[in-house]
Amino acid sequence: MANVDKMLKDRERRKEGDWWAFPEGDTAFYVCPSVREEDDYAYYSLHVHYGVGEKNRMVVCLNTEINDILVSDPIRTFMTKDVSGGCPICEGIASGRISTNSGVTPPMEKWIWNIVPVFHRSSDRLPWQKMDPEVRSLMGNWTLYDGIMDGFASMKDVTRFDQACFILCTRTGKDMKTRYKVAPWLDTVKEPVNLIKKRPDIIAELKRSLRPGSDHDIHRLVAKNALDRAEIEALLGGVELAEDDDEDEGTGKNPVPNMKGGDAAKAILYDRGKGDEAAAPEGQAPPCYELDCAPDDAECQSCEWLKPCAAACGAELIVEESGGGGEILQASDAVKGERYLLDGKLVTAAGTAKGAVYFQDADGVKIKADPKHEITTASEVEEEAEEEAEEEAAGDRDALAELDGLLEDKASKAKKVTKKVVGKG
Ligand SMILES: [Zn+2]
Repeated sequence: MANVDKMLKDRERRKEGDWWAFPEGDTAFYVCPSVREEDDYAYYSLHVHYGVGEKNRMVVCLNTEINDILVSDPIRTFMTKDVSGGCPICEGIASGRISTNSGVTPPMEKWIWNIVPVFHRSSDRLPWQKMDPEVRSLMGNWTLYDGIMDGFASMKDVTRFDQACFILCTRTGKDMKTRYKVAPWLDTVKEPVNLIKKRPDIIAELKRSLRPGSDHDIHRLVAKNALDRAEIEALLGGVELAEDDDEDEGTGKNPVPNMKGGDAAKAILYDRGKGDEAAAPEGQAPPCYELDCAPDDAECQSCEWLKPCAAACGAELIVEESGGGGEILQASDAVKGERYLLDGKLVTAAGTAKGAVYFQDADGVKIKADPKHEITTASEVEEEAEEEAEEEAAGDRDALAELDGLLEDKASKAKKVTKKVVGKG
């Protein structure tokens, strides 16, 4: 049975081509971080010519000085055409062979963004509708660029997963009378959205669709849309190209101002789960997996995915102060000079005398124990943490001599170190 919904959706997509357009009304959207970790920009600026050929096509300018994406490294994987040799349209305009009265424009700058539309309403008298999260690529004008960049200016980074700021685009009118108004969505400026907690579906969509080589890889989009010199010459000569049904020809980059694409988001998108697959239990991971590890949270503590998740998120695992999971022994097994946990306290074995086993705690106090008393081997991390805490405490004592006020702060820090122990496998 044919899936009509799917067919209709597919037709919509074909009509859209590679570039999404905002529907009329208000659309609140999330700005995606860059596709590649090493990209400095969450967008690409691209110069295009309009009004080329019978169908008034948009054509990517082949001047690589302004469209350096055409000669960038990542595009080589996708570019099947030879786009070197300069732009015949720019040359034609410069020599007078092409008149701009013909409708052909000089290179005009556009900006390619990936976004996820989140809410929409066709008029401000109607309620907001939640949209299914889907990454959309769009080739925007200055208004869009400027509006989104206002978001970056006021929020530092609107793409942050833990503090995302949505942008609001209001589209009015149709065709030549279409007007856009774009600005950060004030609700989310005042109260940024924690996507990890509130919209894991958006993050899941980003993980799914925003990857190098995906349909939203800007380099791939540009490679797909660029025409080579001969094809452009043909268009200029009035010859239509073989049907590839796309009206739009998008391409190019040329980074403009300065902006990094969401460091926090990057960490999640690009570094997730490195080397942790082996440790992951079988079955379906919870939706928060790799996103939001909070090992001091009871829910996280009891989750079987805790260890790989903490490793992927870079979170610190908390190990019980006592017990510690070491090997359980009897006091009589203690080797002189080695460290053990005795009743939850880190001690060093000091030897045996008169049928009893002696230990020494960190302060040098001797502890007598029955040979059958239970002790556990202390793991390295526990020892390190204890030592660290000791150093901190020693530092505190020195500091106290100098400055009373400093003590409290440091002591509380030392306490924290004792409690938080980096997890080990
Ligand atoms: Zn050009």
